[in-house]
Amino acid sequence: MEPKHYFLHLEPDLETFVFSGITQIKIHSEEIIKKIVLNAKTLNILSCKIKKGEDYVACDFDYDDDKEELVIKYPQGVQGDFELKIQFKGELNDKLLGFYRSSYVIEGQEGTKYIGTTQFEERYARWAFPCFDEPKYKTPFDIEYVINENLTGISNTAVSEEIKLENGKKLVKFEQTPKMCTYLLYFGIGEFEYIESKSDTITYRVYTTPGHAHKGELGLEISRKSIEILEELTGIPFPISKMDNIAVKDFQFGAMENYGAVTYREPLILVYPGKTSKSSKTQIVIVICHENAHMWFGNLVSPADWPYVWLNESFASYFERVVTDRIYPEWNIWDDFIFDSTASALMRDSLINTFPIELPGGKPIDINSATAPIIYDKGASVIRVLSDYLGEEKFKLGIKSYMEKFQFDISNTAQFWETFEEATGEPITEFAKSWVHQEGYPYVTAHREGSLLKIEQSRFTFLEHESETLWLLPISYTIFLQDGTQVSEKVVLKEKSMEITLPVNTVAYKLNAEQKGFYRVLYSDENLEKLGSLIKEKKLHHLDVYGIQSDMYNFVLRGTYTVEQYLDYLQKYYTHEESYLSLRDIAAGLDSLYFFLDSKRSRIAEIGKAMFDNYLEKNGLEPKEDDSLETSRLRSSLLWSAFKYGSKMVTDFIKKKYEAFKKDEAIHPDILSTVYRAIAAYDKKSKDLFFAKLTDPSTSGQEMLYLCQAVGEIRDEATLKDVFDITLEKMPKNVRYIPIALAARNETTKPWMWTWYKDHAELLKEKLTPMDLGRVLIGFASRSGIGKEEDVGVVLEKLATQMPEREDDIKMALEMLKIYSTAVYRN
Ligand SMILES: [Zn+2]
Repeated sequence: MEPKHYFLHLEPDLETFVFSGITQIKIHSEEIIKKIVLNAKTLNILSCKIKKGEDYVACDFDYDDDKEELVIKYPQGVQGDFELKIQFKGELNDKLLGFYRSSYVIEGQEGTKYIGTTQFEERYARWAFPCFDEPKYKTPFDIEYVINENLTGISNTAVSEEIKLENGKKLVKFEQTPKMCTYLLYFGIGEFEYIESKSDTITYRVYTTPGHAHKGELGLEISRKSIEILEELTGIPFPISKMDNIAVKDFQFGAMENYGAVTYREPLILVYPGKTSKSSKTQIVIVICHENAHMWFGNLVSPADWPYVWLNESFASYFERVVTDRIYPEWNIWDDFIFDSTASALMRDSLINTFPIELPGGKPIDINSATAPIIYDKGASVIRVLSDYLGEEKFKLGIKSYMEKFQFDISNTAQFWETFEEATGEPITEFAKSWVHQEGYPYVTAHREGSLLKIEQSRFTFLEHESETLWLLPISYTIFLQDGTQVSEKVVLKEKSMEITLPVNTVAYKLNAEQKGFYRVLYSDENLEKLGSLIKEKKLHHLDVYGIQSDMYNFVLRGTYTVEQYLDYLQKYYTHEESYLSLRDIAAGLDSLYFFLDSKRSRIAEIGKAMFDNYLEKNGLEPKEDDSLETSRLRSSLLWSAFKYGSKMVTDFIKKKYEAFKKDEAIHPDILSTVYRAIAAYDKKSKDLFFAKLTDPSTSGQEMLYLCQAVGEIRDEATLKDVFDITLEKMPKNVRYIPIALAARNETTKPWMWTWYKDHAELLKEKLTPMDLGRVLIGFASRSGIGKEEDVGVVLEKLATQMPEREDDIKMALEMLKIYSTAVYRN
């Protein structure tokens, strides 16, 4: 049985928050069937009919909301082509899922207004209309709305016709969609305003609530540029005549790639003058490129089932960088990729409880804090390794033939690799087996015996874990020779170990050249010292400089090195380091150690202050117009670290900014988030100033994020508890977790945070979205749970039985706690 076409009629009402609808589905069945099972949830089903020939016959039906099933009965049996017609009603809910309402206010006007919008991935289209809600059922859709005359209707395709009706209503009809999945449908209604840009074939728009469309200029430009680049990269034109980008205030995720109608959290599509930093603008660009990459990866070629969702997310996460790099080559966006994606994926995949990139089937796939770093970040990193391994030309060829073969259709992982192998003529099945179907990743030990370099691979986990797993591992390495020259080489490690012959006058060697691979390296002490000297003499590539200390830090968590060894190495070789990624990573590493190791705080502060003051003195505390993206990001991050470690220069600077803040004077957007956080940490009394802004309806979505982060940095127990109460009670649902998540990283909360969580567990379940609850749980348990491991175990195991859907997060939280507490007791 297969659905072939949907006609969908919707009448949403923004005053009563209800909608009524009719769906007519054309179906074909080879077999005789007596019941038809559709998905439906939170709906009120009014009638179901079957049309065979010209006549509609009313049918009995069973609707089970828990099972999310609508079973239509037709005891006579039906075969061949027929049609279903279902009448239903639903609620425009406030749960940010399905067909829901999102609120806004207009400055200077009384009262709250609403738009109606949708979020259907993975299985929420069934909240809006009865349907076959699985990605494998792709059909064209014809959609129409009856709405109030003053409203705008948006869907996946352009409006084909608007007809004035009686009673102040109108009928809005949309062009037929391409063959597509239900989870990519979009319904939007409201008093929207927009800006637009037109190419020969596509009209691009950014839609906002009234008064904000002009903030969408950057978004509009990037939407168009990225679609054009992706058309070229995939060799396939975008099949819809318009591309809408809709800013939504109440939104659970960052963005959603609805076909031709992408929705965004407001600060991820709108630029707020004086508030949006250079770094946030970069984020806007990357997110748009990501969503638009989905127009091909996910929308044109869709996953046959949810375990294959990596075919969407890994590729979108890879191509977001390819496209961003084409638009802004000066950003060095691949350097950031190593930090944002590869490093966070390595971290996540170092747990014993991890997953392969192609998720195991058997239970509903949930994209959450536990799975996202694997599906998005590890997936994209592995695709980068593949592209490097095959060479760019062959990689492009593989992508193009895959797109061509499966366009408007679905595919699974095996079909993907088959097509790729056919097109490129390269045996990549082995590579796929290692990296997509196998969990974890390796580390390589390298030590020298005379002219031989012996390398050996083993699985890297923080906690002890026996594993025989091997990977097909492409290794690129650089050899440093006595005369000051370097040689670059590549090998593929397929077995457990191998030997490489070194030139006679080799001084040192660095594996994983420029950190493009997905593995870590453990060197002999002798080589590590020699690499250190080369770092000091500025003879290494800046990404290798980053990689050496980053691997070392992770081996500290594994117990191979002590914290003292790591700090000594930093002090010896990195004190005058100025490269972007190294400093950013060292700042993050020291920040964690500072949180966990009370006894080492003064030493960590001393090292950090020396390193970061040095950079800030040279580059200035106040942002400059011609700052590179890297300088701008690094300044913001180091200002915070240097402040925390007691830098006098930075503390004086923050005091001045605090005075400016009190007088409502402008603070440069590139340092705004850091300055807010530092002010909160400096003076608990700033809380009232922050909340005055937080509750002001004219505060932008962007500033709201900075303010929420800031209040989590207050260093006073009673004030912070107050902050949590107010946030949970008064802040919009999608930002409530932020102060709590930040406070869990604030070292002054360590003694009481876990108890607070236990006292408020029920309230948090009620007030946070399930995904945000997962996020804060991981922070609470792994950071504040140290010294209370047994209690944390009992509480979380009980929670796992109550909330099986949070099981992944809970397992992750417990393992992280074990890693951190082992490291704390060891050091
Ligand atoms: Zn995505």
